Amino acid sequence: MIKMKPKTLKGFAGGRSSTVTGIWTVAAMWLILALPTFCWSVQLTLPGRAYQGDIFVGQCKPPAAVFVDGKAVTVSSKGYFAVGVSRDRKKNLIVLATDGGKKVSEVVLIMAHPWSVQRIDGLSNQYVEPPLAARKKIQKDNQRIRDCRAGTSYSDPLFLKDGFSTPVEGAKTSDFGSLRILNGRSRSPHRGVDFAAVEGASVFSPADGIVSLTATGMVLMGNVLMIDHGLGVQSVFIHLDRVVVQKGERVQKGQTVAHVGKTGRATGPHLHWGVSVGTTAVDPVRLLDGIYGIR
Ligand SMILES: [Zn+2]
Repeated sequence: MIKMKPKTLKGFAGGRSSTVTGIWTVAAMWLILALPTFCWSVQLTLPGRAYQGDIFVGQCKPPAAVFVDGKAVTVSSKGYFAVGVSRDRKKNLIVLATDGGKKVSEVVLIMAHPWSVQRIDGLSNQYVEPPLAARKKIQKDNQRIRDCRAGTSYSDPLFLKDGFSTPVEGAKTSDFGSLRILNGRSRSPHRGVDFAAVEGASVFSPADGIVSLTATGMVLMGNVLMIDHGLGVQSVFIHLDRVVVQKGERVQKGQTVAHVGKTGRATGPHLHWGVSVGTTAVDPVRLLDGIYGIR
């Protein structure tokens, strides 16, 4: 194990003396890496800034490996990759591309987004304070969704062909990211958007993709459908009445894939649409105006 001794750098940080520990040395190295590098063999195209809850598509000159905050992401044969910014992210993003020898890295500035608060009353108490047996089943349900998100995604960026459209005919009733107070008790923020719709209304695939998960009877989510749009970008639809496609099936933008229901923790029929990039939940509505990089 290599131990880094604390050392003092004079003239760093605007002429003041700063004691830099091992951690800070690593941080300083990252900063140096983050400075734009003029290395034409590994080009990197990124937005200069992104908001909390955003998704964007970057591009590098293939073949190259791309790391976001040091973690490898899926890169298409044309060098496209997707990045999600979590709801609560405060630090800037560091994106690094390398062809195995040369490397280039850039910083994406992260901007704060104001999140709303939503109160929902009248929910059955078994969903707000589920009994122990239900909590165990909820954990299993959540793990299935997490595993699907973390699993290998299709490397072809299917959504780049035609972009995204709204998956149901109906008004948006709840935003992504809103802090939820259920029956007066604070719960985790909303991880998708809700649309008002009648029971049985068609749910359309918002973009091209491949069905990555179908499930019935989840305690909170009810009947569930997930679609992999490529590059780690996946949609999830919950509270469905029924799903009409099967796992592994290729679906096209606008194709009917399910019908609206009120299964799981739902006060009435509506569609909940969530989008994730890898395991990071992002605001689906941001996809509807076009994604940075493919507008
Ligand atoms: Zn919802």
